[in-house]
Amino acid sequence: MLVNLNEVLIPAKKNHYAVGLFNAVNLELARGILAAAESTGSPVIMGTAEVLFPYGPLEEVSYYLLPMAKKSHVPVVIHLDHGLRKETCLKALELGFSSIMYDCSTDPYEENVKKVKEMADIAHSYGATIEGELGHVGDNPDSAEAAGKEGAFDPAKYYTDPKVAKDYVDKTGVDALAIAVGNAHGAYKFPPKLDFERIRTIAQTVDVPLVLHGGSGLSDNDFRQAIKEGIAKVNIFTDINVAAVKAEFERFSSMDKGLIDLIPAAVEAVKQEAVKKMELFSSTGKAGSYVAGMLREKNVDSETIVKAVASEVIKELKAHGVIK
Ligand SMILES: [Zn+2]
Repeated sequence: MLVNLNEVLIPAKKNHYAVGLFNAVNLELARGILAAAESTGSPVIMGTAEVLFPYGPLEEVSYYLLPMAKKSHVPVVIHLDHGLRKETCLKALELGFSSIMYDCSTDPYEENVKKVKEMADIAHSYGATIEGELGHVGDNPDSAEAAGKEGAFDPAKYYTDPKVAKDYVDKTGVDALAIAVGNAHGAYKFPPKLDFERIRTIAQTVDVPLVLHGGSGLSDNDFRQAIKEGIAKVNIFTDINVAAVKAEFERFSSMDKGLIDLIPAAVEAVKQEAVKKMELFSSTGKAGSYVAGMLREKNVDSETIVKAVASEVIKELKAHGVIK
């Protein structure tokens, strides 16, 4: 089922686990990610980012992501990661994305607040959620985000200030907040050092779920600690991107092979890598509790559910000519 960020992140924050965002710029990635979520009963966030549009245009990506989410039996958020322009965010909402990120983190503070507040009102009018970023998550060299930028990035210069975070969330109305705590996009050249105390302080200061970008390359202990301190959404791309190509490389043994020989290997590798992350974030098995919680919230009693299921079964039996 297609849901928004609040529907998966509020329970995650409350119960101290995190839901992964995995970008799915082609069908192999999308199939691998969804297979991981369905086989582990995990809620999941799939999407794409504006810097990834050259590899899969937003509209084309929406043609498979949205139906896949709607058909799935686990909660799936279709999210635009790092929308950089207002028009991109509006297009994603118009296409039916259930969530967007409007990244104005390189703008001056007041400008970031003004632009994101305006977009938050629009997103909410669509029933969609919005993520903002405060401080700035930088880019490791060779990451998609770093394309065209010069020099090494020093994350310590752009840390999120907990006091400003509260003001930012209050003024913009964002549903989730991406924070800069020593993390960066892409593959790390040196082991990153996360500021866990800062995560804890921000989590105590603001009500909304916190987001950790640049998750690929962090150690398992980094993730566990970050989630314990208050991270409820983790963005992963590099690890699944690399896993797919490694599997294709291993499968490619001669020029007699075609693309269809490589596709199943890529899907399986993405699935395995995503399952590892879902287990690490403890989101596995949480899809069922989401559905149960939703039924409780809507005051749906068990008799109504049994009747609804029975009527579906009867329809199926009739369709197959088992009964008239
Ligand atoms: Zn990011």
